[in-house]
Amino acid sequence: MDADRSIQSTENMPEATIPTLNSRQNMRCRTCKSITQHELVFIHTASFTDEEEYDPQLSHDQPNYWEDRTYRLWICMGCQDAHMEIAIQEHGPQPEQDPVFSTFYPPYEPGQKQARRFSYLHENLIEIYREAVLCYNTGARISCAACLRALLEGILIDQGVIINEERKKDDLFNKIEKLRTMKIIPTSTATLLHSFRFMGNQALHFKLESMPPHEVELSYAIEAMEQFIYHIYEAQKDLQKKLEILAKFRPDDMDKLPPNVKS
Ligand SMILES: [Zn+2]
Repeated sequence: MDADRSIQSTENMPEATIPTLNSRQNMRCRTCKSITQHELVFIHTASFTDEEEYDPQLSHDQPNYWEDRTYRLWICMGCQDAHMEIAIQEHGPQPEQDPVFSTFYPPYEPGQKQARRFSYLHENLIEIYREAVLCYNTGARISCAACLRALLEGILIDQGVIINEERKKDDLFNKIEKLRTMKIIPTSTATLLHSFRFMGNQALHFKLESMPPHEVELSYAIEAMEQFIYHIYEAQKDLQKKLEILAKFRPDDMDKLPPNVKS
């Protein structure tokens, strides 16, 4: 419980800024790592005293120290993931100095990646993607690169990309190019994928002097793959789903719309 108090302090938070149920605040999401609107959907409060030194049955005095805890459940309006905030107000002999500390779970770890959720990607490809993120988080850089490459090849197979021109080799470079010329991915995404050394054809040939990819390169590669997956699998389906909901929309249905359609 005391691991992560310094992450965000709302010290001496004025009464007017204490969030109320269903209010929204901009904050950095622990999952999608973006600053997004978060809606407060649940509040639970509890008080704790220094019980060893204070017994309300025996004393009318206040304890020397006690704390009020407010548990808040925030939902990210971007990725819909939930995060718990525990706001602790410590009370002591000088009330004007009572500080408020907020701690979030899971904690925000800039160096750690959290696997995104993909609804329309094949489950075997989701497994490879998650393993790539797991390898990245544990510092297994060669395995992470291997997973990313396997993921890219898996997506190309899933998309039915076949190189049938006689003059062209059936290799990753040409497959990505094919995807670009089929207008399945924009040129900028294709360029980005080509730019990762370990995605290239040379990566197939082991060399003793080869170094594992740098952590920063892998971080960008994971983000590029996430964009790639979102562009191919998720974006169109998301749009289609929203259009279907809106096609059936009647003004009386406003309350029934999912939050990501309302916003
Ligand atoms: Zn989010």
